[in-house]
Amino acid sequence: MNTLKKTDPEIYSAIQGETKRQMEKLELIASENYVSPSVLEAQGSVLTNKYAEGLPQKRYYGGCEWVDVAETLAIERTKKVFGCEHANVQAHSGTQANIAVYLACLNIGDTIMGLYLPHGGHLSHGHPMNFSGKYYKVIGFTVKKETELVDYEEAERLALEHKPKLICVGASAYSRIFDWKRFREICDKIGAIFMADMAHYAGLVAAGLYPSPIPYADFVTTTTHKTLRGPRGGIVMCKAQYSQTLDKTIFPGTQGGPLMHVIAAKAVALGEALKPSFKKYQSQVLNNARAFAQNLSKMGFRIVTGGTDCHMFLVDLQSKNLTGKVAEESLDKAGITVNKNTIPYDPQKPFIASGIRIGTPALTTRGMKEKEMEKISIWMDRALKNTGNEAELKKISQEVKNFCKKFPLESHLKSMI
Ligand SMILES: *Cc1c(COP(=O)(O)O)cnc(C)c1O
Repeated sequence: MNTLKKTDPEIYSAIQGETKRQMEKLELIASENYVSPSVLEAQGSVLTNKYAEGLPQKRYYGGCEWVDVAETLAIERTKKVFGCEHANVQAHSGTQANIAVYLACLNIGDTIMGLYLPHGGHLSHGHPMNFSGKYYKVIGFTVKKETELVDYEEAERLALEHKPKLICVGASAYSRIFDWKRFREICDKIGAIFMADMAHYAGLVAAGLYPSPIPYADFVTTTTHKTLRGPRGGIVMCKAQYSQTLDKTIFPGTQGGPLMHVIAAKAVALGEALKPSFKKYQSQVLNNARAFAQNLSKMGFRIVTGGTDCHMFLVDLQSKNLTGKVAEESLDKAGITVNKNTIPYDPQKPFIASGIRIGTPALTTRGMKEKEMEKISIWMDRALKNTGNEAELKKISQEVKNFCKKFPLESHLKSMI
């Protein structure tokens, strides 16, 4: 960064500030992680200079021999990690990956079905402000009020009634296992295309710790930057029969030149996911999430669904007379970063929300284990009992800062590769 320091001190200082923030605070946002120095290096490389429209060996530009090597590795490693028949690694993001599948399978005005957004679904599964909600008719299945688990009977009933052309299954805030097989059976009853969006769970799926949708779904989309711990981006996988349609929909259908530096970084992350240390990392992520949820539960916090099968869970703050918004702000002052989140059947609007979402991928990358989760949950409890007490929150943030020094990012990042 010596060059940037001289040529653009303003941006240099923003990057320094963000680095410091990442080092001194506890990152509990479920969709975030710390990539390895190797991923960072690949993403910051000269591959950003190259135009490579098309696919390896079939490009519209000359000089693609080296980016072809990188993209071929990314494709082959995706197939190896997830066992899919076909993969396209060019989607710029998780949302772009979903757009590509919709455009490959649907016409404007067709009906899609996905998890009702306030119950954990994603914007790109049919939010009215998102293209998916504007261009398609959206049916949402829900979670049951008593158990907060997916209501498969309702999903089947809605599918038979509305005959969606595509059923999209996945979530940003659902901590339990999806029964992929059950959704395959529902799709087969009405001849619908089954798309699984495993954006959040991909790292656990890669490690064999969360059921894989690959055997059941026609299309599987994912982000690469959440539990998978790669650069920001997306990947689409599909059955062989859809491979050409998918590739054409990504380019020229929805994107121009692929981000070759990001694709190289995806390949690096997927290479890391093939190592035994990745499985160890993911099982620690899972153990940490379970320990964290149990600790909070013991302190009187209600965990949505009562626990978790993955890297994240939701905390219902209603019995503590707090909103998600207040909790997020107070925790941030205490050096603990979370996001407010609606809980199923939330009486509050999303901008206020009754809950927070907690995830352990980033803390685990730093090398923290169950013992540290306990410490953090005690800080959380203390901060949430002192939401208006600036002095106490500041005191906690100081303790957090000192604690973080024991888990320096650099050394843990180096040890994981
Ligand atoms: C995060 C997420 C996405 C979108 O990812 P972006 O890269 O932010 O566009 C899509 N689907 C689900 C379920 C997600 O959680």
